[in-house]
Amino acid sequence: MFQKFLGGKTAIVTGSNSGIGLGVATELAKAGADLVLNSFTDSPDDHALAEKLASEHGVHVRYIQADMSKAEDCRALIEMAGACDILVNNAGIQHVAPIPEFPVEKWDAIIAINLSSAFHTTAVALPIMRKAGWGRVINIASAHGLTASPFKAAYVAAKHGIVGLTKVTALETAHEAITANAICPGYVLTPIVEKQIPDQMKANNMSREDVIAKVMLQRQPSGQFATVEQVGGTAVFLCSQAADQITGTTISVDGGWTAL
Ligand code: NAD
Repeated sequence: MFQKFLGGKTAIVTGSNSGIGLGVATELAKAGADLVLNSFTDSPDDHALAEKLASEHGVHVRYIQADMSKAEDCRALIEMAGACDILVNNAGIQHVAPIPEFPVEKWDAIIAINLSSAFHTTAVALPIMRKAGWGRVINIASAHGLTASPFKAAYVAAKHGIVGLTKVTALETAHEAITANAICPGYVLTPIVEKQIPDQMKANNMSREDVIAKVMLQRQPSGQFATVEQVGGTAVFLCSQAADQITGTTISVDGGWTAL
């Protein structure tokens, strides 16, 4: 549908060696964008993934190691990329615990990776986008950026925070050809969700199938996981001309979760 309309543009996707980040990067590559992939690791697999995407989609792909829990790494990632037409702030982690027992180091890590990293990357990316005369900031928030669940204090706080940051970014760029929006997925079956299943099985004394159907997808009226391709396709749409006047908002990809 969108063909290769992003040819000549460079997209930086944080936390993109798995899950939603990889799905978004892949859909942007299909639309012709050159890519900078990122995570905190620096393994042969990370670089092989970059080569695979480049050869499959005929675009330039680089992998740059940077730890999104560190302000200086976030800023260096954008500087090292050399170009940044599309910034996708996607890196994220999760921890589930009641507030009195929530480990302080987990709170700090979630706020740093899921929220502060987007402030640092955006701060360096906006002057680059302004120079180029075009830009897209796409923040991967969550249904938890709009609603809450118990035991996810840091995650819900960070995701509500990134929705707020998205609005400020949009207002500060409103008169320019730059937009900032947040995509709010419901449950997508990626490693971050897989890791929650054993804990939920224990907490609820349920089978894996019951946790998926009765705990996770119970929130999602469609009864289905959203897919990384659907989140990626939404990001591609936000980069299209049709979305030139869409800024400062959230787009839910949640099977109806937030309609409840
Ligand atoms: P995932 O665990 O597959 O991906 C997380 C990515 O972030 C990985 O590439 C990981 O390497 C990277 N990452 C983690 N810590 C990092 C760090 N310190 N520095 C750099 N990269 C780091 O999980 P996912 O589901 O693909 O999550 C991606 C984003 O989507 C997250 O922000 C998450 O909150 C959000 N999200 C996920 C779901 C879901 O159901 N899976 C729903 C809503 C929102």
